[in-house]
Amino acid sequence: MADVSETVNGNLFDNAMEDMEKAGEVANIPVESLEVLRKPKRILQVTFPVKMDDGKIKYFEGYRVQYSDARGPTKGGIRFHPAVCLDEIKALSFWMTLKCAVVDIPYGGAKGGITFNPKDHSLSEIERISRSYIRYIHKFIGPRIDIPAPDVYTNPQIMAWMLDEYEKIEGHHAPGVITGKPIDLGGSLGREYSTSMGGAYILKYMKENTDIIPDNPSIAVQGFGNVGLHMSRILSEWGYKIVAVSDSRGGIYSKDGLDIKNLIAQKESKGTVVGFSGTEKITNEELLELDVDVLIPSALENQITKHNASNIKARIILEMANGPVSFEADKILHKAGKTVIPDILANAGGVTVSYFEWVQNLNGFYWIEDEVLFKLENVMISAFKDVYGHVERFKTDYRTAAYIVAINRILSAEQLKGSL
Ligand code: GLU
Repeated sequence: MADVSETVNGNLFDNAMEDMEKAGEVANIPVESLEVLRKPKRILQVTFPVKMDDGKIKYFEGYRVQYSDARGPTKGGIRFHPAVCLDEIKALSFWMTLKCAVVDIPYGGAKGGITFNPKDHSLSEIERISRSYIRYIHKFIGPRIDIPAPDVYTNPQIMAWMLDEYEKIEGHHAPGVITGKPIDLGGSLGREYSTSMGGAYILKYMKENTDIIPDNPSIAVQGFGNVGLHMSRILSEWGYKIVAVSDSRGGIYSKDGLDIKNLIAQKESKGTVVGFSGTEKITNEELLELDVDVLIPSALENQITKHNASNIKARIILEMANGPVSFEADKILHKAGKTVIPDILANAGGVTVSYFEWVQNLNGFYWIEDEVLFKLENVMISAFKDVYGHVERFKTDYRTAAYIVAINRILSAEQLKGSL
C-alpha cells in the first residue's frame, strides 16, 4: 500500500528548498551562505507505547525537528494527523524558522507531530498519547530551548496536559515551555484567534493601502477549524462578504454571503458546515475554483497543485494554512497574475501571540486583550511593509520577497555569531 503521508504531502521539504534557492538567486545571496539553512539542526524521532481504553498497547510514532536556533530558542507547533511524516515536519520546521524571522520575533523554528488520527481516539487516549510524547521529548524542550504550541488537530487542552507532564518531570512550574495554553494555566488573551486576526489585519491593510483588493471583495475560506472559523468570523464582523466555506465533510456556497454567526452555531451543534440552510453544497475542490476575489486556504498543505492551479479564479490567495500552494502551482498562479500572500507572513499572527504569551509567562505579568491586539497589529503591518518593500525592490512575488527578508535576518545572526 502507498505511504499515505507521501501521497498527501508530495515532497514538501524539497519544494521548500527550491523556494529558498529561488530567493537566493533573486537577492544574490551567495550559494555557500545558504548551506546553514539546508538541513535541520536536530531531528528527534520517537516510538512510544500507550495503553488504549480496551487495555491493549499501541505504538505511536512522533517527531520533533528543531531546524534553526540562530535567532533564539526554537519554536513551533505539534500536530496530530495520520499524514504526519518526517518530510512534512522538516518542511514545517523550516517554515517556522522563516516565519519567526519575517515577523522579527526572537525565535528559531521547530515543529513536532504524532502520526495518528485523533478522531479515532477517546479523550483519555489522546491525553495518554500527549503525555507520553512529552515524556519522550522532554529533555529536548524548555522555555529557553524549544517551545511547542498547538497546530493541526491539537488545542489548548492538549497543551495543558503536555505542560502538566513537563512540570511533573521537572518538579517546578514552567509555563513558558509551551504556548497556546488555556488562560487559567498562563495562556494569553487573544491567542486562540490570533492566527486569523493576523491574516485579517494584513487583508485590511492591503485593502486600505494598495489597489490589489477591490471594493466589497467576495471571499471563500477553505477549512473551518480554528483558523478558518475565526477568519470567517472576524472578516464577517468587519463587514466582508464570505460566500463559501468548507470543512472535511464538504463545502457550502451562497452568492449573497453566509450568515457566519449562525453557521458557527451549526458547526458547534452538528459538527459540520454542510447542510446550512439557504446554501448550495459544493466540494472542497469546487470551493478552491470559485469565481471570488479572495481565496483563503485555511486547512492543510498541497491543496492547490499543478493539477488545479490553472482553474483558480481568485485574484488574491491568502495562505492561512501552512504550505497550501505547491511549488509548481505557485509558478502557475504567478504567471496568471495572481497575488499569493505566503503562509510565512499571512499566518504568522499565531506564533506572534505565542511569543507574547511566552514574554508574559517569563515576566509573570499579564496583558489585557487590547494590548495583545495592538501589538499584534503593529507586528503584522510592519512585517507586511518589509515584505512589500522587497516585492518592489526585487520586482518579485510576495513569497520570494518574504523568503529574502527572513533569510537575510537569519544569515545575519549566523554571521554575527561567527558560524558563517
Ligand atoms: N502552529 C502555528 C504555526 O504554524 C503556531 C506555532 C506557535 O505558536 O509556535 O504557526
